[in-house]
Amino acid sequence: MRVLIVGSGGREHALAWALSASPLLTKLWVAPGNPGTALVAENVNIATLDTDRLVQFAREHDVDLVVPGPEAPLVAGLTDAMAQAGIRCFGPTAAAAQLEGSKAFTKQLCDEAGIPTARWERFTDPDEADAFIRRRGAPIVVKADGLAAGKGVVVAITLEEAEAAVHDMMRDARFGAASSVIVIEECLTGPEVSLFALCDGTDALFLGAAQDHKRIHDGDTGPNTGGMGAFSPVPGFDPAPAMDAFIRPALVEMARRETPFRGILFAGLILTPAGPRLIEYNVRFGDPECQTLLPLLASDLLPALVAACDGDLAHCTLEWRDGASVAITMAAPGYPSAPVAGSNVGDLAPAAATPGALVFQAGTRLEAGHLIAEGGRVLTIVGTAQTLPTARETAYAAAAKVPWREGYYRRDIAAQNYGE
Ligand code: AMP
Repeated sequence: MRVLIVGSGGREHALAWALSASPLLTKLWVAPGNPGTALVAENVNIATLDTDRLVQFAREHDVDLVVPGPEAPLVAGLTDAMAQAGIRCFGPTAAAAQLEGSKAFTKQLCDEAGIPTARWERFTDPDEADAFIRRRGAPIVVKADGLAAGKGVVVAITLEEAEAAVHDMMRDARFGAASSVIVIEECLTGPEVSLFALCDGTDALFLGAAQDHKRIHDGDTGPNTGGMGAFSPVPGFDPAPAMDAFIRPALVEMARRETPFRGILFAGLILTPAGPRLIEYNVRFGDPECQTLLPLLASDLLPALVAACDGDLAHCTLEWRDGASVAITMAAPGYPSAPVAGSNVGDLAPAAATPGALVFQAGTRLEAGHLIAEGGRVLTIVGTAQTLPTARETAYAAAAKVPWREGYYRRDIAAQNYGE
């Protein structure tokens, strides 16, 4: 099979690493990729949102399967465009990607399908939103309806913060059209779990569960980031009832609406004292959750992705390795607000040679043979082992071998679960 991955982050490096191990693979490209993906595939210089060129490339190179990593090309209709060209694309159509593209769409679907979620209201008028906030009181959560690069959610502790969020999103149009509609919802408390399922429109297979660490600093302090680390499995979390409560009813409802969901459905859950509640759906793998989940998958990923595209998951099973994995993000200094590019990452071979460790690249570039930090999140270091504590030790031992002095990473990823 000839496969084209779309994206350039650590998630796409992990996908390329997993697919490159498939005996069914004959050729693998990544568009645009990074120096890490170039180690296991051929990079193609096409941007993730350049749908026309991606379709043209896939056509000219007889690609059998396209695997988009990020949500933006899916929401923009990459799967639809590939389908028109007769090319299999692993991911939802633009209509089905609304599960990530619009919070209000998701909340309405939850209500119709009986999926437990925070109580909510949708607003197009800031005065009405403010009045609602004053009636309900704080804490309360204000969300931009559309895609806002992970920055569209404000968990407001005070009324003033909530009203400031409404002002920012609606009156100042901080996220443009994405925040002309907002959702205001009840504030939930409890640990968060990310649940992943492989979906073919009708059937779903469990694809792992992880916990991630969104804040920049140890102890979950400082601003939110794209993700500073993740681990899997999540101790005490039982995926089977969660698949029945949060994945299968969504598939049934999407099929009933004639927009069947194919691809990865990622349910972000809060485990409240009253039971798990859905915070959001994403329509793709998380980053860095992907890097933590794929090393635990014992089965060949490639036929599973094809089966999901072809509506054939009923005949597919996935085997998992025993044990656990921990992923640590290494970021450029100044991340997330003002990452400083240009420092020398150095030789990753000693870290990658650590038994049980994997090194995935994200914001890197090669310059005269040197690996240079270019983006905010630069590397993901993954440790896998029989237990979570030893996976964590493996990941940190490997991270310590990365020569990049400017690289920043948290020291407490996966720590809280065994009372460190
Ligand atoms: P989202 O972009 O929807 O994943 O939201 C970002 C983060 O905001 C989540 O990971 C939660 O930590 C938090 N969050 C979202 N919705 C709620 C809610 N209803 N109650 C409390 N926290 C929330």
